[in-house]
Amino acid sequence: MSLTSIKVTPIKAFSDNYIWAIINKNVATLVDPGDATVCIEFLEKNKLTLNAILITHHHSDHTGGIAELVDYCQQKQWSLTVYGPANENIPHCDIKLKENDTVVLEQLHIDFKIIDLPGHTAGHIAYFANKQITPILFCGDTLFSGGCGRLFEGSPEQMLNSLTKLANLPENTLVYCTHEYTQANLSFALTIEPSNQALVNYYNNVNELRSKGHATIPSTIQLEKQINPFLRCHEQSIQTNAQQFATNTNTTAQDTFTTIRRWKDQF
Ligand code: ZN
Ligand code: FE
Repeated sequence: MSLTSIKVTPIKAFSDNYIWAIINKNVATLVDPGDATVCIEFLEKNKLTLNAILITHHHSDHTGGIAELVDYCQQKQWSLTVYGPANENIPHCDIKLKENDTVVLEQLHIDFKIIDLPGHTAGHIAYFANKQITPILFCGDTLFSGGCGRLFEGSPEQMLNSLTKLANLPENTLVYCTHEYTQANLSFALTIEPSNQALVNYYNNVNELRSKGHATIPSTIQLEKQINPFLRCHEQSIQTNAQQFATNTNTTAQDTFTTIRRWKDQF
């Protein structure tokens, strides 16, 4: 299988969600289809058969379209497999996944490894593929470009661990997250690291892309390590600047992560 045989395309949903379609020839797999209507429109317009759904976590903006898509595939007599995290309640989930499990999508000629990412939700998972293709990652609401998900069900320690796993993936990994939050995330990032030149450059690029209505996703692991404060809590400059917000000493990456996550919640 060559790199060129797979295409990953966003389907816009709600105000700022991306439902990712992984396409090979006339077959598509959807990641986190929160809204069935936009997905069915997309499949019909592009004459695609839906074979699988990959779910990262249980929030309704990621799972709300499953039931209707299951019905739709039944009417079409397509066989559909719904994959989701082992430790969350996902409607119509056929295969429950945990760390190091493999998902083989034969029709797309792609295999995903599962990475457990507790933090945003307790059972959140990501899907990572790197065999014979540029590595790709579907990480739901854990890592965003320039930011990270809110801690609804996990501790700062769990989230920092989860983000560190992602930071250790190959630098050229394409990062497909689920929300277009980049501009707002970068405004916050610049507050913490105003003199980070890579961040300033990316902020300008992103403003230009958004002014034309273009997506800023996918990002890469390499870029996120340069510009995302939540992957940079070990940096002295961030540890020092985090003290503006909290009077604690922020001497460790963990303290700093906790401080800037709380700061971002109020930003
Ligand atoms: Zn979520
Ligand atoms: Fe979400």
